[in-house]
Amino acid sequence: MEQQFLIYNTLSRQKELFTPLTPGRVGMYVCGPTVYGDAHLGHARPAITFDILFRYLQHLGYKVRYVRNITDVGHLEHDADEGEDKIAKKARLEQLEPMEVAQYYTNRYHAAMDRLNVLRPSIEPHASGHIIEQIELVQKILDAGLAYVSNGSVYFDIRKYQESTHKYGKLSGRVIDEMLATTRELDGQEEKRFAGDFALWKKASPEHIMRWPSPWSDGFPGWHAECTAMGAKYLGSPFDIHGGGMDLVFPHHESEIAQCEASTGHGPCKYWMHNNMITIEGQKMGKSLGNFITLDEFFNGSHINPKNGEEMLAQPYGPMTIRFFILQAHYRSTVDFSNEALQAAEKGYNRLMQAFKTLGSLQPSKTSSLDVKGYRQLCYDAMNDDMNTPIVISHLFDAARVINTVNDHKATLTQEDIDELKSVFQTFVFDIMGLRDEAATDNSALIDGLMQMILDVRAAAKANKDWTTSDKIRDSLSALGIAVKDGKDGATWELK
Ligand SMILES: [Zn+2]
Repeated sequence: MEQQFLIYNTLSRQKELFTPLTPGRVGMYVCGPTVYGDAHLGHARPAITFDILFRYLQHLGYKVRYVRNITDVGHLEHDADEGEDKIAKKARLEQLEPMEVAQYYTNRYHAAMDRLNVLRPSIEPHASGHIIEQIELVQKILDAGLAYVSNGSVYFDIRKYQESTHKYGKLSGRVIDEMLATTRELDGQEEKRFAGDFALWKKASPEHIMRWPSPWSDGFPGWHAECTAMGAKYLGSPFDIHGGGMDLVFPHHESEIAQCEASTGHGPCKYWMHNNMITIEGQKMGKSLGNFITLDEFFNGSHINPKNGEEMLAQPYGPMTIRFFILQAHYRSTVDFSNEALQAAEKGYNRLMQAFKTLGSLQPSKTSSLDVKGYRQLCYDAMNDDMNTPIVISHLFDAARVINTVNDHKATLTQEDIDELKSVFQTFVFDIMGLRDEAATDNSALIDGLMQMILDVRAAAKANKDWTTSDKIRDSLSALGIAVKDGKDGATWELK
C-alpha cells in the first residue's frame, strides 16, 4: 500500500506529510564531515540518521539523489584568531599538504562509515572543487545589495537583509539581539559593519596556504557558502530535504537560508531535518573534556581520557552495536553514551540476529496459533511517523518473542506466516535499518567454512583413490600459501 510518510520540519516546527517537489524523485543534501580529524560518535549519528532516510525513501520507490559534502576548506575555527581554517592549521602542524590531510581523513571517514554500513551518497562534492560556484554565489549576493566588500573580504549584510522582507533567524528562532550576545569576538570584527554579519569570502593572510583568486582578494570562501552553492548545483533550487545535526541549525543553516534567499528570492529546500546530539555520560562532547571517543576506539575497545588517564571503554563494541544503539533512540531525542547503554544495545542487536537465525530453522505447522500478519504495517506506521526507529525495534522484539515461542513448541506458525516474518525482518532490520549480521560477515568464519568444505572434497577424493584430484587440491592450496597437513583425525590447514 501507499505509505504516508510524515517528517518533522524544523522550519515549521511540526510534522508534515512528505511530498517531493518532483513526483517520484527526491533531492536531499546533508552536511558532511570537516576532514581534519577522525570520525567520532558524534559523526555516526547524522550519518546513520540520514542513511535511514536515504534507505527508506528508496524503499518507498523514490529515485533519490543524496548529496553529502566534504568540507575541506574554509571552516573557520571559532577560537581561531588568525582566521586560518582548520585544515590548513592541521597541515601546518604536521608538515603535510592540506589536501594530503583532507584525503587521509576522508579515507578514514569512509572506512568507518563502511563498517557502520552507512551507504555512500550519490554525490560527495568537495568544497575545494567548487570555488567557482561559491564565488558566483557571493557575487549574486553582492549584486542584490545584501553583502559588502571590506578590506578584500566579503560579508553578508544582516541589517540590510532584515530591512527587506527577509527574516534572519526563522529556522533557529533566534533574534538578532540574542545572537549578538552569543557571538564571540572573531577575526575581522573591525571589518564588519555589524557584529552579526558573517563572512562569505575571506581574504587570506600572507601565511595562509589554502587560497584561491577571486574578484575581491586571494582568499577562501566562508563555510556557509559551500553548502548553498553545492546543494543548488547538484539538486537545483529549491530541493526537497536539507539535513544535518541540530548543532548546525545556527549559524550554519540559518546563514544558508539567508544566502539562498538573498541570491534567489527563496529558501534552499522544502524540509529541514535535524538529528539531536549524543552526550557522553551526561556531558557534552568536547575537546576540553577529553571525551571525543573515535569510532575506531569504540571498535578496538580503548579510549584513555587524556584529562584523567582513565579508560572509558569497558570492552570493544562492534559497528552494528553502535548502529543499533543510535537507532534505539528517535533521531530527534538526545542519546547518552555509557558502557551500560552500549552493552544493552549489544544484547538487543544479538536478540534480533538470533531471532532471524531461529526463523530459518522453524518447523512449519498446518495452522498458526498466533497472528503475525500485523507486524509489517506496524513497522511501516512507526517509520512513517518521522522515522520512529525505536518503535520499529519494539515491534521486531515482539516478533522475536513469537519466533522463540514457536521454537519452544508453545505455539505454531504456517510456512506462509514464517515466510512473512522472514520478509518483515529482511525489509526492516536489514534493508531499512541497515543492520547486518556481523557474525555472518566475519571473514574468518567464512574462510573456516570454505576450507572445511575444500578439505571434505579432498577427503572424498582420497577415499575414492582419486589421487589426481586430491593432489591438485593440495598443490593449489599450497600455491595460495595454505599448507594442508594430513593427520590420523583427517586433514588440517594453516597459513604458511
Ligand atoms: Zn552544510
